[in-house]
Amino acid sequence: MGFVATVKWILIALAIIYGIFIIINGYLKAKKITSKRIYSDYHVHSKFCDGHDEIEDIVDVAIEKNMPKIGFSSHSYLPSEMGWPMTKEGTEEYKKVVTELKGKYKNQIEILLGVEQDYWSPTDDLSDYDYVIGSVHSILEQDTKNSAVDGLTKSFEYAAENYFDGDKMAAAERYFELVSDLYDRTHCDVIGHFDLITKYNEKCMKEEGKPFVDSDDPRFVEAERKALEKLVATPVIFEINTGGMARGYRTSPYPSERVLKFLSEHNTPVILGSDSHEKENLCYGFDEVMELVKKYNLNLVYDPRNK
Ligand SMILES: [Zn+2]
Ligand SMILES: [Zn+2]
Repeated sequence: MGFVATVKWILIALAIIYGIFIIINGYLKAKKITSKRIYSDYHVHSKFCDGHDEIEDIVDVAIEKNMPKIGFSSHSYLPSEMGWPMTKEGTEEYKKVVTELKGKYKNQIEILLGVEQDYWSPTDDLSDYDYVIGSVHSILEQDTKNSAVDGLTKSFEYAAENYFDGDKMAAAERYFELVSDLYDRTHCDVIGHFDLITKYNEKCMKEEGKPFVDSDDPRFVEAERKALEKLVATPVIFEINTGGMARGYRTSPYPSERVLKFLSEHNTPVILGSDSHEKENLCYGFDEVMELVKKYNLNLVYDPRNK
């Protein structure tokens, strides 16, 4: 082979190698971008409880976002409350609608029928659901309205004043006692917003210079630790919930980094949930949460039915 022919073949070989490099590089880039953007979301509210949108409209947004799966988690029926939980009749309608849409959209997205089971709701009718999120929203069964931990700050203050002799930390201890009992009571798959009681801390810190409930108080830390120890011994997934971020109360998700560290040490599975009440907030803040998942090397699962 002459010199010119050799050079020609070397150039052709280099061109082929370069071409392959460009293709592989492009593929890896595309994969990185795509994988960064695609999430599923299992904590989603609709008009069946206190969400703003129809289920089908939320499904449309989820499909636009290329979400592989979406799980609906309406608030369970709670006889003593009106407005935010589902009604008894509404619960049956909710199951029917989600089940119909599962079939209708089965080629575009996997839809799961879930429920956000309030601690005080009846637990006799959970078998129809694909998964259950267990949540504590109030600390007193006889007065759920005035003991809400995520309602107005004054309702929690009222509860502390009237039922715990003004001892806020005793109310916090009661909250974590109930949270620790969530699996035993509901057999939930997921623990919803584990430290919801810290909802107003950042806001109060900013406005009043002190947190609403001091999460560094030794009594708080101890109550939290006891609840964690009990729950990590059960087959539950902990939710990393961005609901407070979407609503502007917080700049970080539930639970705190201290809790995430504990979950990491116990290799407890975690899952992402937006707790969205508006379809625009599906998967809200999940990119930021992924940084925490990486930072604490958390055991992230992608489906509440996978433990
Ligand atoms: Zn909730
Ligand atoms: Zn919720």
